[in-house]
Amino acid sequence: MNKPHCVDSVIIGAGPAGCAAAMRLVQADKQVVMLDAEPKQREYKIGESGTPSLRSILPRLNLEPELEKLGHLPCHGNRAVWGSPHVEEQDFLFKGMGHGWHLDRAEFDNWLRREAEQKGVTILRPAQLEDLGLLPSQTWGLKIEFEQKSYLLESRCLIDASGRAAVLAKKLGAQRKRLDELTALAIIATPSDDETLYSMSLVESCEQGWWYAAVIPNGQIIITLMTDADIVRELDLTNIDNYLALLEQTQEVQKQLKKPYQISTSVMAYPAHSGYLSQVAGMGWLAVGDAAIGLDPLTSSGIHCAMADGISGAEALIASMEGDKQAIPNYANNLQNALKQYLTERQTYYQRETRWADNRFWQRRQCSKHA
Ligand SMILES: Cc1cc2nc3c(=O)[nH]c(=O)nc-3n(C[C@H](O)[C@H](O)[C@H](O)COP(=O)(O)OP(=O)(O)OC[C@H]3O[C@@H](n4cnc5c(N)ncnc54)[C@H](O)[C@@H]3O)c2cc1C
Repeated sequence: MNKPHCVDSVIIGAGPAGCAAAMRLVQADKQVVMLDAEPKQREYKIGESGTPSLRSILPRLNLEPELEKLGHLPCHGNRAVWGSPHVEEQDFLFKGMGHGWHLDRAEFDNWLRREAEQKGVTILRPAQLEDLGLLPSQTWGLKIEFEQKSYLLESRCLIDASGRAAVLAKKLGAQRKRLDELTALAIIATPSDDETLYSMSLVESCEQGWWYAAVIPNGQIIITLMTDADIVRELDLTNIDNYLALLEQTQEVQKQLKKPYQISTSVMAYPAHSGYLSQVAGMGWLAVGDAAIGLDPLTSSGIHCAMADGISGAEALIASMEGDKQAIPNYANNLQNALKQYLTERQTYYQRETRWADNRFWQRRQCSKHA
């Protein structure tokens, strides 16, 4: 093993949070290495709703804010059947921030990584953190695995951007608290040629949880049921027939699928629980994005929040490297406040649905902030 290469920051995870942090750090002339584990080969990368608020984040990193220029589809708002059988439409037009997007999510994340590399970030992929320790020089010594070989790295600070896995924070002793067992079950449908597709996304509550439907840039429709892991097991909802039987009972979502249509033959399952870290920062390190706070997909703002955290986390580390001792504790306090606000808003939204108050899914979300 060769002498460790010394950089300003090593970031674990090259999703939206890690890429935003990396790009902000290189803007301040910091040397950054980002490690990313090979993503699992999935049929579909989930999380495709880009809120209009991304338009304010992207230019801060010198990125193109009009994502339709990159092939993503405009999304003009949300339709919701929630709390009553009436369909409520919320048009982004009235929020004054322009439209949002139906993203090709895999391509969006790849684009962020390409942009980060072009701006000077070194990305090692697939790479894993094997071990770490604080050196006498108060810098971090890291042992990493890249392309099946071990390497040593030295870094002034570290960022955990590894998503819900929070691998770095856990290695440093923080605990990941789960707030629920929300699971996303998704299928892809290919509509008939002559079908007019909505440019709005749709959310519809049901006895076992809630549904989400939206078009994706290739013209297909993603349909997702959000429910708890124990309900998935009991009703055997990863079985496509059971899944479709529940879908048939929806008021609006099944209308998106005017026959004939083709659907994926299997149900894809994704963990979608809310969660947070017992400690989001310490001396010379901090967590950003889902690693710090995993939001309920109902908010549709995971990408925005992850990138915003990435930028503010990077700015805290830049200030800390320049001697500001309060920068990291301030960052941690801000995240603590954001978590409190998120929990209150999440509870308020779920409490608006009272039609299935006897069902476990809703009971868990009616009575306490910590479902
Ligand atoms: C079902 C579902 C639907 C969603 N829908 C939306 C939506 O419509 N709109 C929206 O804005 N948000 C949505 N979200 C949330 C959004 O996807 C996340 O908030 C966002 O991806 C968080 O970005 P991140 O960079 O923090 O984490 P991630 O995107 O999870 O990225 C983490 C990165 O870390 C890497 N990594 C993991 N472990 C390791 C390791 N050991 N070593 C190195 N690297 C590692 C991963 O490969 C990955 O690249 C949804 C989430 C779910 C679960």
